Order: sequence, then C-alpha cells, then structure tokens
Amino acid sequence: MLTGMHVAIIGGDARQLEVIRKLTELDAKLSLIGFDQLDHGFTGATKVQINEVDFSDVDAIILPVPGTNLEGQVDTVFSNEKVFLTEEMLLKTPKHCTIYSGISNRYLDQLMKSANRKHVQLFERDDVAIYNSIPTVEGTIMIVIQHTDFTIHGSRVAVLGLGRVGMSVARAFAALGAKVKVGARRSEHIARITEMGLYPFHLNDLEKEVTDIDICINTIPHMVVTASVISKMPAHTLIVDLASKPGGTDFRYAEKRGIKALLAPGLPGIVAPKTAGRIVANVLAQLLSADLHMRKEK
Ligand code: NAP
Repeated sequence: MLTGMHVAIIGGDARQLEVIRKLTELDAKLSLIGFDQLDHGFTGATKVQINEVDFSDVDAIILPVPGTNLEGQVDTVFSNEKVFLTEEMLLKTPKHCTIYSGISNRYLDQLMKSANRKHVQLFERDDVAIYNSIPTVEGTIMIVIQHTDFTIHGSRVAVLGLGRVGMSVARAFAALGAKVKVGARRSEHIARITEMGLYPFHLNDLEKEVTDIDICINTIPHMVVTASVISKMPAHTLIVDLASKPGGTDFRYAEKRGIKALLAPGLPGIVAPKTAGRIVANVLAQLLSADLHMRKEK
C-alpha cells in the first residue's frame, strides 16, 4: 500500500488513467495536474493547477512517457492548460522526491542535475521494454496489414535489430507464416536468430539481403536503412520504422524512389493505451512501494 505517500501526476494521455487508477487503489494521495477536462473522478485524487501544488509535501512526481519537451512543457491531453516543470518546483520538493517518466531528454537531464533529484526512466528497464514490445508488435501488424495488398503469411520480411522489440517482432511475423530474416551485428544475436529458426544475416550484408524482401521492419535507432540500402529493395517493399524518432531510415530517398516508408512511433499508446498504461502502472506501483518501504526503514 502507498498510504501516506503524496504523488503528483503531471499531464499525460490515456495511459496515465491506468496509473491514477492503480495508485488510487493503493491509497496514495494524488494531485492531478493537467486533468481538468477529465470527467472521471477518482476517489483520493484531487485535480489541481500546477501553481496550487505544495511541492514541499510531494514524495514523487510522475510525468507522461515522453517526460517534457525541450522547453520543459508537459503534454496534457486532458487540459488546455500549459504546464511546465521547472527547477524552482523541484527545489521545493523534499530531497527524497523521485521523478518518473518513460524516457528523458536534454531538458530533463539538465533539470535533474541542477535540482539534484533522482530521475527514473521507466522505458530503460528491460521488463517494461519487453512488456511494451507486445502492443508494439500488434501495432506493427496493424500497419503492415493497412499498407499492403498481400498477406503477411508467405511474405518475405527483414527485421533489423534483435533487441527487445526486434525479437518480439521477428517471432510474431514468423508465427503468422512470414519468411523472416533478421539482421544483427553481434555474433550472439546471430546465434539466437538461428536458434529461433529464423534466417540470420550480418548488418554489413544488408544491401545484399534486401534485394528479395516485401517488408522491412527496422528497430535500430540509427541510420541503417540508407539510400543505398533502399535502392536495392524491390519497388513494392514496405518499410516500417519502429525506432525512436527520427528513425533509422532515409525517408527522403524512399519517397524519391517511390518506396513506402513509415515512421511508426508510440504504437503501444495508440493501439492499446489501457495495456500500455497498465504496464507503466504496475512497475510504478512496485517502485513507489519500494521507495516508501525504504524511507520507513531509515
Ligand atoms: P534495444 O533492446 O536496445 O534494441 C536495439 C537494437 O538495435 C539492438 O539489437 C542493437 O544491437 C541494435 N543497434 C543499436 N545501435 C545499433 C547500431 N549503431 N548499429 C547496428 N545495430 C544497432 O531497444 P528496443 O527496446 O528493442 O527498442 C528499439 C527501438 O524501438 C528504440 O528506438 C525504441 O525507442 C523503439 N520503440 C518503438 C516503439 C514504437 O511504438 N514504435 C515501441 C517500443 C520501442 P546491439 O545489441 O548490437 O547494440
């Protein structure tokens, strides 16, 4: 239980509703900032303006998955209010106050450093990334179906990268009957791809390996699907780039060549906001409980 813990939830989308629900169940005291247009009332949660929050009493701050933008503004889907997270606010919080977000950026990194507060990036955790790969795969399948006139079954798919997303994508497309090859650079990844019954290739051979594919799914957050790689693909190839913005594809060249290339960020929040929210909510509940427990023991 989180009885006695004061958590400020600042902004976010539908995923944050699952976080509010979970933390309310656990009896945390919640201040909701940027939720004034939300009809749903949560017992134990109070909607407030950011300037009404007593930060000296806040044990934890939960930001949306992206954190803030580079100017410190927090995205608020349920409000028209412009909400900024500033150093002044963080300096008012108790020293133990921890800030949670999915990912970070230059603004947040600098803010946490200057305010000297602990920042937890939930999406860096393997468990969160692996759970999140499930709705990501479902979203990828949706995009491929929407943008092709052939079945996934029997199609030739190249998946680039065997990380948490790449592995789930490769496995799911193979299970749907696609002929999946996976490109990686580490020999242990080549071994794992072989063990999974898929066709492995080294990324150095990418240009050679794309000459016969129907679909290319990139999960590598670096420029790998270059103009020269795209120039070797059949004209009907669909490229779906899952890597975080700006992706790893030369979109300008793909367009010039008439190859459909789509950057598809944030799929879990789009195709399954409830599940994506629960993934975040469950791990937050664990982390906040551990934090509270540790402070009580001190
Ligand atoms: P990950 O576990 O870190 O995997 C990344 C993969 O990329 C690894 O196989 C890694 O290989 C490879 N890689 C990284 N840098 C490389 C380089 N310079 N050259 C060749 N290979 C390289 O990450 P993940 O959790 O799978 O996520 C992959 C990407 O998808 C991230 O950008 C993430 O933000 C994004 N993502 C998108 C969605 C969405 O909805 N579109 C959802 C979740 C995640 P090594 O081990 O050899 O470095």
